[in-house]
Amino acid sequence: MLNLIVCLKQVPMVTELPWDEKTGTLRRDLASGQMNLACLHALEAALQIKEQYMANITAVTMGPPAAQEVLREAVALGADRGIHLCDRIFAGSDTYATSLLLAKAIKKECADYNLILCGSYTSDSETAQVGPQIAEELAIPAAAYIEKLEINGRTLRVRRLVDNFRETLEMEFPALVTVSLEKYQPRYTALAGLENAFASGNIISLNARDLGISSASMAADGSRTQVRNVFLRKEKKENVVLKGTAANVVNEFLNKYESKISWAIGKDIEEEDHGDE
Ligand SMILES: Cc1cc2nc3c(=O)[nH]c(=O)nc-3n(C[C@H](O)[C@H](O)[C@H](O)COP(=O)(O)OP(=O)(O)OC[C@H]3O[C@@H](n4cnc5c(N)ncnc54)[C@H](O)[C@@H]3O)c2cc1C
Repeated sequence: MLNLIVCLKQVPMVTELPWDEKTGTLRRDLASGQMNLACLHALEAALQIKEQYMANITAVTMGPPAAQEVLREAVALGADRGIHLCDRIFAGSDTYATSLLLAKAIKKECADYNLILCGSYTSDSETAQVGPQIAEELAIPAAAYIEKLEINGRTLRVRRLVDNFRETLEMEFPALVTVSLEKYQPRYTALAGLENAFASGNIISLNARDLGISSASMAADGSRTQVRNVFLRKEKKENVVLKGTAANVVNEFLNKYESKISWAIGKDIEEEDHGDE
């Protein structure tokens, strides 16, 4: 029996992204949450492995109390249990701290895992760092953006799209993959799954003390990056009618807009400078 772990992140609804302009952080408490789409693809890959090879799936998330919803959704879809990392001192973790905490929980609660599956990236921070950083912390091999998975004994064969060519890699278990958004289309929740999602004992919660972490160690070994500045891109729009012969219109257009469309004609784009603070 294979032991699979799927890392799932709850992200704010894309239509509601309130920023705290003072701290430069996202006010997750003000937006309703949903499972990050790429995580659903990772879960689907795990569910297909479970159907094909017999496996046990543990879903893991770190986030505020409401993040537990993604674990219930995962259990409803076919995961066997969920682990929720939740503590006030985890708030504000950057990708390094997030990966460190997820790796600690995996070591503590699922030491005999074979494969960790992550989404390729999230819709709210989109760094794509967490999966590879978990692998680094656990000292296991990793492959990102995979679109096909085959298991043969202790060997995992994955196919991934890199630029314009496809690459096939083999790794020994335990390993980590991040799953491409192109494949493993998520399934719908079956009504029968909902009962499991709310059955007691399927989801456990771990706080800082359970992971042997204190505020002091979080401060010393936690987030190493800070958001210095967050701003909305300002877009200026104007309606302009160019008249005259085709040659004149093209010349006038290029004179006026060349710097703005330089990316399309092979020149460097001019960046708007927003300063440091
Ligand atoms: C410099 C910096 C500072 C930040 N400061 C803050 C802050 O102050 N407050 C704040 O709320 N956020 C902050 N964030 C955002 C926070 O670090 C990210 O939400 C978190 O680390 C995950 O990164 P990501 O969303 O880019 O994940 P990615 O690396 O894009 O995610 C890839 C995959 O990793 C897994 N994964 C990612 N996060 C989790 C998770 N929490 N639980 C389970 N699996 C997960 C999922 O499978 C996901 O699909 C900061 C980010 C950066 C870069």
